[in-house]
Parts: sequence; structure tokens; C-alpha cells
Amino acid sequence: MNGPARSMSLVADDPGHLVRALQCESDALVTRERFGEYVGKTLRAAIDERPQMRLERAAIVDIDRKGQGFVLMDSRGRRYRAHTVALALGNANPADDLLPRELRESELYFGDPWRTRTDDLPAGDMLCIGSGLTAMDRVAAFGSTMRKGTIYTLARHGYLPARELPEVRACGYRGLGIDERSPLSLVRSVRAAMRQHISAGGDWREVAEALRQPSQRIWLGWSTAQRRQFLEKVSSLWASLRYRVPPATEDAVAALRNSGRYIPLQGEIVAAVDKEEGIGIEYSIHGERCRLSVASVVNCTGPNGDLGSNPNPLIRALLRRGLIRRDPLALGIDATPYGEAIDADGLIDERLLALGPLLRGVLYESTAVPEIVEQAREIARRVAREREEWVA
Ligand SMILES: Cc1cc2nc3c(=O)[nH]c(=O)nc-3n(C[C@H](O)[C@H](O)[C@H](O)COP(=O)(O)OP(=O)(O)OC[C@H]3O[C@@H](n4cnc5c(N)ncnc54)[C@H](O)[C@@H]3O)c2cc1C
Repeated sequence: MNGPARSMSLVADDPGHLVRALQCESDALVTRERFGEYVGKTLRAAIDERPQMRLERAAIVDIDRKGQGFVLMDSRGRRYRAHTVALALGNANPADDLLPRELRESELYFGDPWRTRTDDLPAGDMLCIGSGLTAMDRVAAFGSTMRKGTIYTLARHGYLPARELPEVRACGYRGLGIDERSPLSLVRSVRAAMRQHISAGGDWREVAEALRQPSQRIWLGWSTAQRRQFLEKVSSLWASLRYRVPPATEDAVAALRNSGRYIPLQGEIVAAVDKEEGIGIEYSIHGERCRLSVASVVNCTGPNGDLGSNPNPLIRALLRRGLIRRDPLALGIDATPYGEAIDADGLIDERLLALGPLLRGVLYESTAVPEIVEQAREIARRVAREREEWVA
């Protein structure tokens, strides 16, 4: 994980919870496996302590309104009644509708970067589309297990994410003089603040960390046109500063690059040809066409927020029933800042709640663990309050 253990606690009021549970240093960057164990242990302990809480293993495929609440259906046809529903569905696989059809339909194309293992890939060179955190993570993982072959990344902007320094802490935001009025003024003033901070002996990451706390407020204050401008002009740069690579991953990627086994490329895929010996990729950079031949292609462009192409049957059913709709920028679900879903008629449903990556269009910074933990706490408080009122 790229956040230090002190900022990844699942208990919002207890920042030391993870450090104690895993007995690690507060600056430690734990692996995803250990974090997963921690999530499982914490959930099991919470259920053991609360007889009114139960965990069901089921894939929910449909939800409909029933009276004051909802009825949920799972893939085996079982039904569940609920007063309130929280959609905590996580991240969807990367979008691929803009990739050439021949590439998408090829057996050498892998659309799920997180579940693709080195054993699944044919021997030979490999291309990761994208060069953000997912790509760095995959380059390091594939590079450590692939015996031969070169790994390429290809991204339009060509930025590589910066290295995380877990000991770095946010500096004060107020004194930075950030101009929040528009995405472009934000970028200009952040750059100036970083330069000034560095010349005073600080680290630019301290400024990047200081932006985290006000970032949802800034996003909420912008119009849809300004948010669109942010996505078009600023988001790649923002991502490379805000989402940084854990040192172990960066070291592995740097070692592969130094040995010539990892080559980052800049450009955009314009065509693909599925050949017997591999897949031919044509990409363009500044109007020039270039070619690359690889044995496999893995889509590492990051989670797809567009509900319209989300294959999750539950999302499809909710859209079909009009219980949810896309946000105007197709980054996720349309909702209030508190996560209350807005239905197809524009009405707010206080009992159908969303959190995490689904709220990207509403809050933008809504995919990292600390933000999700805060949202989960607010939903838990709301449900507890309603339950008390109901019991009373
Ligand atoms: C490779 C990777 C590395 C990351 N590293 C970091 C990091 O270092 N730091 C950080 O802060 N964040 C990181 N993130 C982001 C963060 O981990 C995720 O955004 C976060 O885990 C999302 O949490 P969630 O609870 O919303 O969803 P998830 O943890 O994804 O859980 C969603 C759950 O919903 C279930 N589900 C989905 N649909 C249905 C359905 N129809 N019926 C029943 N169940 C369903 C899924 O099976 C899953 O169990 C990373 C993400 C990835 C992919």
C-alpha cells in the first residue's frame, strides 16, 4: 500500500488500530496481502462483538424499492429486505471501449490487471496500457516473475508517478496561498507553493499531502465545466503528484528499467493487429506513427467509473430501474456529498447510499482508504441513528 500504516486504520476514531493489529511501525507501508488480512480480522471481530450483525456471502444482482425500504435479490434467487442500502462496490475494471476492437477481442489482451497473473500471460514482451499506479504495480509484479521479455508501458501524457516517502507529513494548507477558484489557477498556485516550499528546504510532497484535506471541498465548489476542465487538463498531473508509488515498487521498476527490461513509452494506441506470433500495436505520438509488437497487452488504465459500461449486474439493474443515474462527468454515481443516491428523476434517496469509488464524480478524492473509512463511519452513524429511532 502507498499510505503509511498510521493513515490506513479502518477505525476512523482510532488511527493506531492498524499499527496495533499488525504490530508494525506507524510509518510502515504494509503489503496488500497484510492489509487484506487486517480487513478480514477487523470485520470478523466486529461481527463477533455484535449479535445483530451478520455477514452473507452472495452476489446481489437486483434491488427494488418496496414500501419504505428495499428488497434485494441475489444470484441464487434469494431475497433480503432492507430499510437502508449502502453500495460499497469498489472499483470496476479499466474501460476499454476506446481501444481498437481487434485488440479488445484478442486472446492476448487482458482487461483485468489486478487478477491477471504472470502464469496467465504468454511468454514474450508485454505492454501495459497506462503508466499510473496500477501500471507500476503490474510492471513490478510481472517483472519479478517473468524470466524473459521486455515490459513496456504506454501512456498519452507519459508521466510516471512519483515515489512515496512514508515519513513525509502534510504542511499547513492556509499559508500556501492556493488559488482554488479554477483548475488552472489551482495548478499554477500549487506549482508556485511547491517551488517555494522546496526552496525553504521542504519536500514538495508535504504540499501535495496538504491538498488532500481540502480537495473534496474544492471539487464541490467547482462547476461541472470546471470539473471537466480539471479532467481534461490537470488530472494526469494531479494523479502523478497525489498518488505516489511505494518505495519497494519504485525500486523494482527502476531496477527493471536500468537493466533494459522495462521501457516507458508515450503515445496513444490507434490500431492493433492480432497476428499469429503476437499482437501488433500502432500508436501515435505528436502526430508520428510508431509500431510495437508484443506477446500480450494488459489494460492498466485504472478503474472505470462510467456506470454505462460497468458490467456489474447490480449496477445495470439499478440503472434500468432508474434508482441511480450517472454523474454528469460519468465518473461514478450521481449523489449528494453525503452519498445519498439521486435517481433518474433527480430525486434524492436518503436510504440508498453510496461510498468509495462510486462517489468519484461527486467528491473526486473518494478512492483511498482514509476517505472511504470516514464515509463508512458517517453511514454507520446514520444507520445506527435510524435504528434507535425505529426501536424507540
Ligand atoms: C491495486 C490497488 C492498489 C491500491 N492501493 C491503495 C493504497 O495503497 N492506498 C489506498 O488508500 N488505496 C489504495 N487502493 C484503492 C482502495 O484500495 C480501493 O479504492 C478500496 O479498497 C475500495 O474499497 P471499497 O470498500 O469501496 O471496495 P472494495 O474493497 O473493492 O470492496 C468491494 C466489495 O464489493 C463486492 N461486490 C461488488 N459488487 C457486488 C455485488 N453485486 N454483490 C455483492 N458484492 C459485491 C466485491 O466483491 C468486493 O468484495 C488500491 C486499489 C487497487 C486496485
